[in-house]
Amino acid sequence: MTTVSAYAAPSAKAPLERTTIERRAVREFDVLIDIEFAGICHSDIHQAREGWGEAIFPMVPGHEIAGVVSEVGPGVTRFAVGDRVGVGCLVDSCRECDNCKAGLEQYCTGGSVGTYNAIGKDGEPTYGGYAQKIVVDENYVVRIPDGLALDVAAPLLCAGITTYSPLKHWNAGPGKKVAILGMGGLGHMGVKIAHALGAEVTVLSQSLRKKDDGLKLGADHYYATSDENTFKELKGTFDLILSTVSAPLNLDAYLSLLKTDGAFVNVGAPEEPVALNLFSVIGGRKTLAGSGIGGIQETQEMLDFCAEHGFGAEIELISADQINEAYERVLASDVRYRFVIDTSTI
Ligand code: NAP
Ligand code: ZN
Ligand code: ZN
Repeated sequence: MTTVSAYAAPSAKAPLERTTIERRAVREFDVLIDIEFAGICHSDIHQAREGWGEAIFPMVPGHEIAGVVSEVGPGVTRFAVGDRVGVGCLVDSCRECDNCKAGLEQYCTGGSVGTYNAIGKDGEPTYGGYAQKIVVDENYVVRIPDGLALDVAAPLLCAGITTYSPLKHWNAGPGKKVAILGMGGLGHMGVKIAHALGAEVTVLSQSLRKKDDGLKLGADHYYATSDENTFKELKGTFDLILSTVSAPLNLDAYLSLLKTDGAFVNVGAPEEPVALNLFSVIGGRKTLAGSGIGGIQETQEMLDFCAEHGFGAEIELISADQINEAYERVLASDVRYRFVIDTSTI
């Protein structure tokens, strides 16, 4: 066991504070990672404040982890000391169900293990990336390509894969009109990735405050959803709408923006249920779907894709003592576009 410094929420809604946690000794197939950067995902806030239901405390959030391998177990074959690596939302899964076998570990039916706010197969709670080190089975670790700096790579481990996976699955590409709903951590990655895939990209944001950034990141069009004319003008426009919004939405209004056979894919995970008039999908044979992060292999594919296209996330680098303030700014949609913690300050 190694004692490491970390930032934890001691209970729901309490501010995060500096503490220490124990990391397990490196087992046969484990790698020990010296964490350098950890992104702040809105999911960290939902969980630290028990917005999604009862959680495990103390909680060390963080599932956008980038660092360097500092020790490997004797059975490890894929990584060596000094490798630049990342860890996302999963640190284990059953490895036997159809989904695990298909590289869809995020939909494991035999029990996957979250990077934090979960209980590992050893019965111990898992602690996430707001810490100086983490021990992870090599099968749940990915390689960060040389072309990507670790700080801008960290957010790809959740925000990147959560937008890449559905954009690929629903065939965002040349000739497709794709809307990204919400321009925060996930949304801004959605814009970059959909643009790199060759789609015509529209941002639907609450206001035009971030329009210049959106256009710079690759959007072709940018509309404010607070303007009623947006819904009139864009009626029946999109093949695909990817919603990254963290709060309940008027789904019927957004479904009206789809073409016949278009899909509204939701990755945002609001704390409250949303209402739906089913006529909104009947007319136009529309699809309403959801998507969760992505598998390990696909996460590697996404990192390689981002490196090939020369982009990481747009980040605001913060020190650990700014985490609580950063949470408030995320809640106020005031993030440009991902807070990343320099974990040397923990
Ligand atoms: P974020 O940085 O806070 O971005 C969310 C964006 O949604 C905001 O920037 C804002 O964009 C928009 N928004 C916020 N409140 C809104 C409201 N009341 N009405 C309309 N739009 C609103 O959060 P994030 O880290 O990208 O995460 C987004 C959501 O995805 C969270 O719920 C998170 O838990 C979830 N998530 C899901 C998965 C998954 O696997 N499915 C993975 C990661 C995260 P504008 O300012 O542009 O309007
Ligand atoms: Zn996340
Ligand atoms: Zn499984």
